[in-house]
Amino acid sequence: MKILIVEDDERVSDALSAFLRQAGYTTVCAASGAAALEVLGSDTEAVLLDLGLPDMDGIDVCRRIRGFSGVPIIVATARSHVEERIKGLHAGADDFVVKPYDVRELVARIEAVTRRTRPLPVDSGEAAGLTVDGVYIDFRNRLVLADGGPVELTPKEFDIVAVLARYPGVVVPRDRIIREVWGTDWSGFNRSLEVHVGSIRRKLGRPSLIATLRGVGYRLAGA
Ligand code: CA
Repeated sequence: MKILIVEDDERVSDALSAFLRQAGYTTVCAASGAAALEVLGSDTEAVLLDLGLPDMDGIDVCRRIRGFSGVPIIVATARSHVEERIKGLHAGADDFVVKPYDVRELVARIEAVTRRTRPLPVDSGEAAGLTVDGVYIDFRNRLVLADGGPVELTPKEFDIVAVLARYPGVVVPRDRIIREVWGTDWSGFNRSLEVHVGSIRRKLGRPSLIATLRGVGYRLAGA
């Protein structure tokens, strides 16, 4: 798998590149936004994008890549920059890592975002279901089983679980969930989404199955 590392700090990109190669990936490095846009090819399977670049705002790089490519993008941001993370996700990034991050976490995120295909068909017949932490999500029959028994979810609750289950291990931004479940961009559904997620957690009896990323969205534990 070929990964494009967009990072202007050469020591960081060299170290990352060495680690990823050791993990079996092929890497290409770009030290600027312009270089990233130039070397990104159809054989690039994931992009790790540092948001602090010398020539362009990383968010713009993200948006420009999204303009012509569906390649999975993971943005790297500083811990304090929650706004940047949100902007990155809005600009089409699939996930983010917070600097300084453990490269093993990065590898896990790369694997999670590349596991799924894009674009993702709604109610896809491709995967019949998914099992996470003893919970089976049956997409075709819109059923959720926990420890072998059915969980009584409302249709909206099931829709939320199904959206998250299509991206296991990946943060799904709130507005994307709202768009897919309620069919609108209206952020007034934020509170409603929170209430539904709380109810899903109670019904599944597994509070940690769905993680909250405050201000960003939700993530279903990886399968
Ligand atoms: Ca940088």
